[in-house]
Amino acid sequence: MEKTLSIIKPDGVSLGLVGEVVKRFENAGIKISAMKMIHMTKPQAEGFYAVQRERPFFDSLTDFMCSGPAVVMVLTGENVIGKNRELMGATNYKEAAEGTIRRDFATDIEKNVVHGSDSSDSAAFEIGYFFNQLEITG
Ligand code: ATP
Ligand code: MG
Repeated sequence: MEKTLSIIKPDGVSLGLVGEVVKRFENAGIKISAMKMIHMTKPQAEGFYAVQRERPFFDSLTDFMCSGPAVVMVLTGENVIGKNRELMGATNYKEAAEGTIRRDFATDIEKNVVHGSDSSDSAAFEIGYFFNQLEITG
């Protein structure tokens, strides 16, 4: 069984999409092994997105990620890293497949509702960034 980190970003929370996103995961047979709401500080957002430090949108992205509460989750399932990325859709919502979360709800390339780990290495780092072992079930 694989694990991945999902975030419902501040735009998703303020648009009232927490239930909708959780329902899509559950309907896809994905198990939610941990979940909490957090409001990141700028340094916490910068630490989370450290690999993106050189990207031109880093400052704007980290401002956005600490602009309001977000929901962080650990998802568990077979091939859940890829499965979650499929449910999310492409980074640019205009290129995302129909029926994906980003295609249905994103409003901007940055404000794209959800984050998902992109590899098992990043999943391990990202889960450990927000959760300790006692907070993760199954
Ligand atoms: P995430 O890491 O959030 O799951 P991703 O892996 O699809 O998304 P990345 O390339 O890792 O995309 O970019 C991280 C985040 O940075 C994107 O989700 C988006 O919010 C923002 N972003 C990506 N490209 C751009 C861009 N060209 N302009 C502004 N923001 C961007
Ligand atoms: Mg990414």
